[in-house]
Amino acid sequence: MGLIKELIKGLRVTGGTMVRTIAGDELVTTEYPHEMRVKPQRFHGRHVLNRYPDGMEKCIGCQLCAGACPAQCIYVRGMDNDPESPTSPGERFGYVYEINMLRCIFCGLCVEACPTEAITMTSLFEISTTTREDAIYTKETLLMDRRGNVPHMFPDDELADLDELDTADGWLRATAPSGVAAYEGVQMWQGTPGPADWSPEPSQEERDRRAGDGEEDG
Ligand code: SF4
Ligand code: SF4
Repeated sequence: MGLIKELIKGLRVTGGTMVRTIAGDELVTTEYPHEMRVKPQRFHGRHVLNRYPDGMEKCIGCQLCAGACPAQCIYVRGMDNDPESPTSPGERFGYVYEINMLRCIFCGLCVEACPTEAITMTSLFEISTTTREDAIYTKETLLMDRRGNVPHMFPDDELADLDELDTADGWLRATAPSGVAAYEGVQMWQGTPGPADWSPEPSQEERDRRAGDGEEDG
């Protein structure tokens, strides 16, 4: 008898949830891919190689990203810049840059390791391919053009919301050296295709004041 009672109790919960879902009250699914969800600011999507506003490539071919990658999926080869017509502001630039997306675990350590903010991540995750070769992203696919547009391997892919290539992740902001007092009020982020125009991080006093006033930190 007790068992039947428990069963009915359980079914009541299931039935109630089903009715509320059908009525739309608890609907959590969306009509993907027609309806895309807004990604969290710190979402780790496919990578992009950035340029400076003057068009120079940010990558200096140092290979730190490749060294930091736990999946060993980055291959970089640096080359000396032509002094007459340099590709990057450093001595060298990233001549070959490849990421094997089949291996990537989207941890973002490459982004953390990069000293020039050359490699960052966008919000795009629709990157499935039909061949293994297509999953190897080359510099051609990763590097933004001089106008700041990020290329996509399959621009006609119906599933890919290409606007998401323009939204970079925001988690770097929290790890930028703005904690050092000398950088207080200084914007630490160079313009990228993403939401690059962040205001400078507030000082500790400002944070404390906002917290005291119940305002959101920002
Ligand atoms: S996100 Fe992580 S796994 Fe992917 S390339 Fe960067 S460091 Fe490697
Ligand atoms: S992306 Fe950054 S860390 Fe990687 S090689 Fe280029 S400059 Fe170095």
